[in-house]
Amino acid sequence: MNIHEFQAKQLLGQYGVTVPAGTVCTTPEEVKAAVEKLHANGARTFVIKSQIHAGGRGKGTFKNGYKGGVKVLKSVEEVYDAAKSMLGQILVTKQTGPEGRLVSKVLVEAATNIQKEFYVAVLLDRATSRPIIMASAEGGVNIEEVAEKTPEKIVRETIDPTVGFMPYQGRKLAEALGLTGPLMGLATKFFTGIYKTWWECDASMVEINPMGRVLSEDGKEYLLAIDAKIGLDDNALYRHANIQAMRDLAEEAPLEIEASKYSLNYIKLDGDIACLVNGAGLAMATMDIIQHFGASPANFLDVGGGASKDQVTAAFKIILSDPSVKGILVNIFGGIMDCNIIATGIVAAVKETGLKLPLVVRLEGNNVAAGKKTLAESGLPITSGDSMADAAQKVVKAVAK
Ligand code: ADP
Ligand code: MG
Repeated sequence: MNIHEFQAKQLLGQYGVTVPAGTVCTTPEEVKAAVEKLHANGARTFVIKSQIHAGGRGKGTFKNGYKGGVKVLKSVEEVYDAAKSMLGQILVTKQTGPEGRLVSKVLVEAATNIQKEFYVAVLLDRATSRPIIMASAEGGVNIEEVAEKTPEKIVRETIDPTVGFMPYQGRKLAEALGLTGPLMGLATKFFTGIYKTWWECDASMVEINPMGRVLSEDGKEYLLAIDAKIGLDDNALYRHANIQAMRDLAEEAPLEIEASKYSLNYIKLDGDIACLVNGAGLAMATMDIIQHFGASPANFLDVGGGASKDQVTAAFKIILSDPSVKGILVNIFGGIMDCNIIATGIVAAVKETGLKLPLVVRLEGNNVAAGKKTLAESGLPITSGDSMADAAQKVVKAVAK
């Protein structure tokens, strides 16, 4: 699960990371009130930031032509006008795809005097099975580009999870980023806070891009999380009611929300052959074999090891509500699962949904004979596949027609 920038900043603040004070608003009037308050407190430049689950907002463009999903502005009126151009509008960035995302919330903060922008992130390093902190003095911009063209500009520290992030690692990273003097201590505190957030929240990623070296009114330098992004491990969400409450369904694909209601793992893809499979590994192999025979999968769908009839019916409905689907391949291995339960589920789903598309079913394993019999006796136009390859070829051929 992903959360919004303002929510990420709330969590980071709880773990000692310095974040700007901000107000989340849903109407231009709320924005105006928030900016007037900042103005009364002495602020003279303000930033208004579209809240969507995608980055690259600063360089994004709204479908109404308005440029910039993040704006640094100098007057209450300008921010008010920006709010009117952003709220209720669709923002397209490098990360949203051409369809863009609806902006229904904006975050308003006092702008800060940024001297330099850095990149900092904590994630899981799969090679070492340990948390890793990555940082770069080339922050603010596109980090993927830095990683590709000048990878030496990204420094990394592997963290031993039994002892956590150590102060010496903070000093080492700070030095590599050119943060010396009093900033070194601040950097260590900042990195420790990011790591703590990552660890305590069961995050998969915490990314601060940019972390700003900022100059305060009284001429002191400090570090501030200007932007924040947190991805969370869904399997650990049950441990965090406060984070679960941050879920924003408007940011998730409707079919994927429907699938999560039935504990189905569904991800929509670009092809036209839908697959309904039990087990993630088999689902991957099924997608591969569809590609192998020259077509493309319309989705990844794992109904899990012990799917019920209701889940299978729900899975069919989800598949069929995708208009790009031209054929369906069901590939089930009955290990824990009884093939006949699946077959009964398929028959019920085909009848209930009045399926018109070609359907190829390959069953194997526990109680397979009964399952095949159920399909054959249903009188429905269901094609049986004898092996994975046979089933994949049959569905690819049927769709090509
Ligand atoms: P995104 O990464 O989605 O474009 P950011 O939050 O990183 O959004 O903002 C883009 C840029 O806007 C930042 O790199 C920074 O230069 C500027 N910016 C954002 N917030 C502030 C702020 N509080 N004060 C000054 N500049 C800011
Ligand atoms: Mg950013």
